[in-house]
Amino acid sequence: MELNVVSAEQTTGIEDHIPNRLEPAQNDYFAPYWRKFRRDEFWRSIPSWHDVSERVFLDAMWQEQNAVINRERLERLVGPLVDPSFLDDATEGMKRAPMAMRISPYIISLINWAGPISDPLRRQFLPLGSEIEEDHPLLGLDTLGEQSDSPVAGLTHRYRTKALFLPTSTCPVYCRFCTRSYAVGTDTEEVAKVRLGAGRERWKNAFDYVAEHPELEDIVVSGGDAFRLKPDQLKTIGDALLDLPNVRRIRFATKGLAVQPMKIITDRGWLNALTAVSERGRYLRKEVCLHTHFNHPNEITGITEDAAGLLFERGITVRNQAVLLRGVNDGDDCLVDLGRRLSTLNIHPYYTYLCDLVTGTEDLRTTIARGISLEKIVRGTTAGFNTPTFVVDTLGGGGKRDVHSFEYYDPDFGLAVYAAPSVKPGKFFISGDPLRDLRQDVRDVWQNPATRTELIDNVLKNICHHC
Ligand code: SF4
Repeated sequence: MELNVVSAEQTTGIEDHIPNRLEPAQNDYFAPYWRKFRRDEFWRSIPSWHDVSERVFLDAMWQEQNAVINRERLERLVGPLVDPSFLDDATEGMKRAPMAMRISPYIISLINWAGPISDPLRRQFLPLGSEIEEDHPLLGLDTLGEQSDSPVAGLTHRYRTKALFLPTSTCPVYCRFCTRSYAVGTDTEEVAKVRLGAGRERWKNAFDYVAEHPELEDIVVSGGDAFRLKPDQLKTIGDALLDLPNVRRIRFATKGLAVQPMKIITDRGWLNALTAVSERGRYLRKEVCLHTHFNHPNEITGITEDAAGLLFERGITVRNQAVLLRGVNDGDDCLVDLGRRLSTLNIHPYYTYLCDLVTGTEDLRTTIARGISLEKIVRGTTAGFNTPTFVVDTLGGGGKRDVHSFEYYDPDFGLAVYAAPSVKPGKFFISGDPLRDLRQDVRDVWQNPATRTELIDNVLKNICHHC
């Protein structure tokens, strides 16, 4: 039996779930489409969940317990809705993926199983063998060099005043394109993960390092995902960092709001812990924010609207960091729509990352030229402060660079070069467009180690000559 029907005690918070106070206005016939969010019981389209009530579906623990983590569960849920060859294709994809599979019931229910091949949510979380493309030679695990910039396990100190702290290595879902494929989730057939468990001793080493470096002001608590921290762990981390006089800003990172928004509504222990840290931060005049990760408008429903409303009522700033993904959100209108919907929910679109050069993600990557053209389309469609900066997170640890700020870019060769004078002075960082978008003779240049090195060396020599 798939369902775990929860007790009333477990569903803490649903009793006083506040309905959307703006509903009448948003249902106004004349309201623009991006201010309308679906409020149907969409999960009932999954045959096994046909009888699941709203109370059960909104329960965060039920969502955890019913996450899809292997072919058997996937087949049990969507087998009656898809062609059997689709499941075989997915099994092949999972075998070759660097990320384990974990998909929340919320996301499973939002995928169009009548056409899963082109579904933008399916593409983010469920790999297909038939979609795998040969990796560009620049792709790898940990291509951002996070481990080489880690003075203690799970703490990356790259920018002078900012550090990235990884308290855990699990998430409510596993994204195929995760930049931290080297550490996040369970081992796969392709990747044995670096272990970064939620150990208090390891955390203490990280806090000690932050205390010993007074220049550190910004701490990003990422992962893994803050949704997987227990309320007391969230509070411990928040308080430990707020206690340090040098720490001025904390960002808790979670994709949870996009993939399991009901946790904000029904796990009041977690929401209260976040609120307590945020309020203590405000008392100390320090900023505590939530950074989340929506990539497509289909991830947003009335449940999201209620969850985001609760966070806003509690004074918690939420910003979004999207990833530009081919076949997911690289159409002309998708990011415009996403930005407007997020703005309606008081979630600030902050960054749109070009997909990192991670092993196994070639089919999801877009060109830098596409990133630039989409930025032009997005800018001007909503307020400037709700317009994301399009960035490339550079290979080898140069950090995030505005996509336009290259020292060199030749779309014909699919090669870009960025500089990061405040992060790694004097160094250059290269990026490569997907092989699929290049001419065959240029692909041959990239695939041959000798001609590839010659190409890169010549470009770098030319840049140095001009700088
Ligand atoms: S939620 Fe974030 S950390 Fe977790 S798998 Fe997705 S991208 Fe990686």
